[in-house]
Amino acid sequence: MDRLKNYIGGEWRESKSQESLEVRNPATEEVLAQVPLSTDEEVEAAIRAACEAFPEWRETPPTTRIQYLFRLKGLLEDHFEALARTISSEEGKTLDEARGEMRRLIENVEVATGIPSLMMGYSLEDIARGIDEEVVRQPLGVFAVIPPFNFPAMVPWWFAPYAIAAGNTYIVKPSEQVPIVQNKIFQLVDELDLPPGVLNLVNGAKGVVDHLLESPDVVGISSVTSTPVARYIYRKAAEHGKRVQCQAGAKNFIVVMPDADLDRTIPPLITSFFGCAGERCLSGSVLLPVGEVYEPLKERFTAAAGKLKVGDPLDETVQMGPVISKKHKERVLGYIDRGLQEGARLLLDGRSIRVAGHEEGYFIGPTVFDRVRPEMAIAREEIFGPVASIIRVADLDEAIEIIHANPYGNASSIFTTSGSAAREFKYRVKCGNIGINVGIVAPMAFFPFGGRKDSFFGDLHGQGRDAIDFFTEKKVVITRWW
Ligand code: NAD
Repeated sequence: MDRLKNYIGGEWRESKSQESLEVRNPATEEVLAQVPLSTDEEVEAAIRAACEAFPEWRETPPTTRIQYLFRLKGLLEDHFEALARTISSEEGKTLDEARGEMRRLIENVEVATGIPSLMMGYSLEDIARGIDEEVVRQPLGVFAVIPPFNFPAMVPWWFAPYAIAAGNTYIVKPSEQVPIVQNKIFQLVDELDLPPGVLNLVNGAKGVVDHLLESPDVVGISSVTSTPVARYIYRKAAEHGKRVQCQAGAKNFIVVMPDADLDRTIPPLITSFFGCAGERCLSGSVLLPVGEVYEPLKERFTAAAGKLKVGDPLDETVQMGPVISKKHKERVLGYIDRGLQEGARLLLDGRSIRVAGHEEGYFIGPTVFDRVRPEMAIAREEIFGPVASIIRVADLDEAIEIIHANPYGNASSIFTTSGSAAREFKYRVKCGNIGINVGIVAPMAFFPFGGRKDSFFGDLHGQGRDAIDFFTEKKVVITRWW
C-alpha cells in the first residue's frame, strides 16, 4: 500500500509521522493509499524551502517564470485522462465530471501565463510639474492553500498558478480525503525543473493547517472549506497578520418562472442538483417553482431524476457516482430522515439504492422532497448530497425573500423567458454567482469566483483579476529628477 510522500524543496520526502489516514475509493471501499499527517518539523521544512526559494524566484523575469506554466500545461494535457481517472476513483465523481475538473484546472494555468500583462502597474506623469507617480505590483512571499475534497485536482490550481507566476512561492496541503491526484500532479511538477522550493506539497489535516496559519513566514492563505472551518481560518489568519481569502459552504436556490421553457430547463436542473452527487458548492439544493409551473415541473423533474444511472464512476455510462465517505453518507441520510420528521413528502427516495457489484460503495440515489417549508433543516442547511427540496412560491418576490433569509450566498439561478424577471433577479439577489437559464454558475478562470454572506470570508476572490490583486502588493513610487 502506497504511503504518500511530501514534496519539499524540489524532492520527494517520506513523512516520519506515526499518524496516517486511509484513502478509500468511495465506489468500492477499497483502500487506495495511506496519507500521513505530517509533523510540525515537516511543515516547517516546507515553509523554509519556500522562504529560501523566494528571493531568487521574485527576481526571475515573469516571462521566464511563465515558461514553467507552459510546460506544466503540456504535461497536464499529456496525462489528462489518467488524472481524470484518479479523480474519479478517489473522489467518486463520474469520468466526464472529472474531465471537466481537469479542463478548468488547465484553464487556470493558461490564464496565469498572461501574468506579464496582468501584473502591470500604472503611472501618471506630472502629478506636479516634473514629478511622476507610478504603481508597481510586487510579490509578497510564501502563500499556501487549504482545499476541500470535492475538486481534489482543481482547487489548489485555482490559486497556485497565479501565486507563482506573480513571483511568490507556494505550499499545497491537499484534502486528506483525496490526496492522490495532487500527488500525481506534483510528479509532473517535479519534471518541470522549477527552482527547488517554489512549489511544495505537504500532506495532513488540521495540524498542518494550524502550523501554516501560525507561521510568521507564511504571508497569505487561500482556503476552500465548509463554513465553520472557513470562519476559523479567517479569524486565525487575521490574528496572525495574513492575507486571507476563504471560500465556504453553500445552499443554492433555483427559481423556475411560469414562462420557463421546461424542455430546456429540466436537463440543466438535473445536472445542477445531482451532478457530482450534489457535492458541488454550486449544486442546486432548493427548487422554487413560481405559481402554476409547480405541477408540471415537479413531475418532470422527479421523473428525470429517477432515470439517472447511478454506479461506478469509472463506467462511462454512469451519470452519478457515490458520495465521498461512509460518514458523509450517514450525514446525508440523516438529513433525509429529518426532512421526513419535519413533515416534507418524499417524491423520490434514494436511500435504498443498491449498485450490483459495488455493495460496499457509498451510494445514495437521487432524492426529491416536496412540500418543503423554508424553516426546515433540509431547506436551510448545506446537505452536500443528491437531495432536492421543492418549495412552491407565489411570485418572484417570495422566491427572493426565501433566498435572502438563508445565511449562505454562493449561487442562485433563475429559469425564465422573461428579460425583466431575469433582470430583476440578477439585480436584487444577494449571491456571488448568478445564473440566468444556467444551472451551475461556475465562473471561467478569467472571472472571479463569487460568493457572499456565509459563503465567503475576505474581500478578494479566487481567479480573475482578484487573484492578481491577492498575490501582489501595490507599491507607490513618486519620482523627481533635478
Ligand atoms: P472541510 O471544511 O471538512 O475541509 C476542508 C479543508 O479544511 C481540508 O483541507 C481539511 O484538512 C481542512 N480542515 C478541516 N477541518 C479543519 C479544522 N478544524 N481546522 C483547520 N482545518 C481544517 O470541507 P470538505 O468536506 O472537505 O469540503 C466540502 C465543503 O467545501 C462544503 O462545505 C463546500 O460547500 C465547500 N466548498 C466551497 C467552495 C466554494 O467555492 N465556496 C468550493 C468547493 C467546496
